[in-house]
Amino acid sequence: MSRYTGAVCKQCRREGKKLFLKGDRCYTGKCALERRSYAPGQHGQGRKKSSEYGIQLRTKQQARRYYGIQESQFHKYFLMAEKQEGMTGENLLKICESRLDNVVYLLGFASSRQQARQLVVHGHFKVNGKKCDIPSYLLKAGDTVSIKEKSADTESFKVIIEANGSRPVPTWLEKKDNSGKVITLPEREQIAAPVEEHYIVEFYSK
Ligand code: SF4
Repeated sequence: MSRYTGAVCKQCRREGKKLFLKGDRCYTGKCALERRSYAPGQHGQGRKKSSEYGIQLRTKQQARRYYGIQESQFHKYFLMAEKQEGMTGENLLKICESRLDNVVYLLGFASSRQQARQLVVHGHFKVNGKKCDIPSYLLKAGDTVSIKEKSADTESFKVIIEANGSRPVPTWLEKKDNSGKVITLPEREQIAAPVEEHYIVEFYSK
C-alpha cells in the first residue's frame, strides 16, 4: 500500500479521533476535527454504528496513521511484537515509539511526526554520532540522537527548535540542547498513542 498523500486532517476526521498529525495546530480551535467532527465525503454524516471487526480495523488504522507507518511495516512490527515477551499490543506500541522519526518528534526537533520523517530522510540527524537517514530505525536504551551541527545552525532548524523546544519530553527520554538519549524504552503509561491496542491484536489474530 502506498503512502497517504491526501489532506492530513482528513485522516483524523475519517477516524473520528484526534491523531495529532499537525503539531501545535492540533491543540487550537483551528483543528479540523473540532470544526467538522464528522467523516469526510458524501456519507460522512451517515450511519456510525460499527461491528466488532470495524472497531478492530479502525483502531489498527488509527495507530498506523498516528505513527505514519505503512501497512506492511506495521504488520511486520506486529509479528516482531508477538515474538517478544509480555503483552503483544504493548510491545507493538513500544516498537512504534522507538522509531527514530518518533523520537525526533518527541524530543522537540520537529513539529510533527511527518516533519520528523522528512528531516531524518534529508540526513539532518545522527544516531550515536553517525549519520542516520532511516526514519524507521529502531532505537534501543542508551542510544543518542543529535541534530547534525551544520543543520542545527540553519535558520529553518532554529525556527523549529524555537517553536518546539518547550514541549515536555517524555520521561523515558532525556534531552540536552540539540541532542537526546533513550534512557529506557517506554512503559504503556508513558505512551500517548490514543488507541486501545488489544483491538489491533484481535485484528491481526483472526
Ligand atoms: Fe487531526 Fe491535528 Fe488536523 Fe486536528 S489539526 S484534525 S488533530 S491533524
